[in-house]
Amino acid sequence: KRCIAVMTSGGDAPGMNSNVRAIVRTIIFHNCKPFVVYEGYEGLLHGNIKEVLWEDVRDWNAMGGTLIGTARSPDFKRREGRIQGAHNLINFGIDALIVCGGDGSLTGADIFRSEWPDLIKELLDTNKITEEQYKRHQHLNICGTVGSIDNDMSSTDTTIGAYSALDRICEAVDYVEATAKSHSRAFVIEVMGRNCGWLALMTGISTAADYIFIPETPASSETWREEMCDTVSKHRARNKRTTMVVVAEGAIADDLKPITASDIHETLTKRLGLDTRITTLGHVQRGGSAVAYDRILANLQGVEAVNAVLESTPTSPSPIITVNENKINRKSLVESVRLTKSVAEAIKAKDFKKAMSLRETE
Ligand code: ADP
Repeated sequence: KRCIAVMTSGGDAPGMNSNVRAIVRTIIFHNCKPFVVYEGYEGLLHGNIKEVLWEDVRDWNAMGGTLIGTARSPDFKRREGRIQGAHNLINFGIDALIVCGGDGSLTGADIFRSEWPDLIKELLDTNKITEEQYKRHQHLNICGTVGSIDNDMSSTDTTIGAYSALDRICEAVDYVEATAKSHSRAFVIEVMGRNCGWLALMTGISTAADYIFIPETPASSETWREEMCDTVSKHRARNKRTTMVVVAEGAIADDLKPITASDIHETLTKRLGLDTRITTLGHVQRGGSAVAYDRILANLQGVEAVNAVLESTPTSPSPIITVNENKINRKSLVESVRLTKSVAEAIKAKDFKKAMSLRETE
């Protein structure tokens, strides 16, 4: 029987449990043995790995966070850490690993697979594994599913968790809206997303915010204050009692300096005399159970991930499971990670045109 392991890694995202559940059960469905690696790559290199049963993942669809734990693992970025990880997988007889995480986690998975032949050779040469284990574990199959609230991965329309986070943000903004209206106040809402403005942009649309700031279309460093105040004043002139400005945590101006909630607060207070408050939503955005869409996506992608592993050959590129125009697809993990990094680099290099065109060609 083939032994296939699943882990969650990087930031937690609602829907990860549905993904793990579907993966475990599809592995069993195909008459293989499912294992979970606890605490992401930390668990991998410390051997925190366990074979699981069908019942172990019962009722997981409605659970928030990730029940098998996640961690950042600096040690896995070092070769010695990955050697340890390879040793543990071989000791458990595991020859395939499905990683649900963001671009960092999937980069790690890709490096692990490409280094695998060297790692196992070293394990053999240092007598940590037997000749027989060496022969049996010539290849490690890797497959990625994308769990991230930021929706920042190239090649897929959406990531597992993004719609749940968006839903939570909208709910919070609705609460704030009620108090803002009562006092005729302005609110600056800071939302997560790292270098990606998807959450902020979609929040802006969903809540009809007055103004938004996102990294992908940096505001003019010279004129953003004036432009925002003009728009807000126009809305106020039409008897609007509230002002909502949404700012992505990674928002920048075209001089690449961050545009922060406190910059916006100061501007609204000083220039327009508005009674302004900042609400940084923080980890509320990650919390709670997944919305139905994320559960469905996570289940469908979990099934596809196991099918992809079972159909992989030693020479086929590692797949990542995506959704494009409502269809579940397999794409190249390496290529998706490369594209994601190119967008981030283009933004860093102030080449916004390139960043936008890369996003469009995804
Ligand atoms: P995310 O997966 O949400 O993007 P991180 O970027 O923090 O989160 O990555 C999660 C983990 O993946 C890291 O703590 C590290 O163990 C592993 N990882 C990230 N980048 C690499 C890399 N270049 N090489 C090896 N491992 C990596």
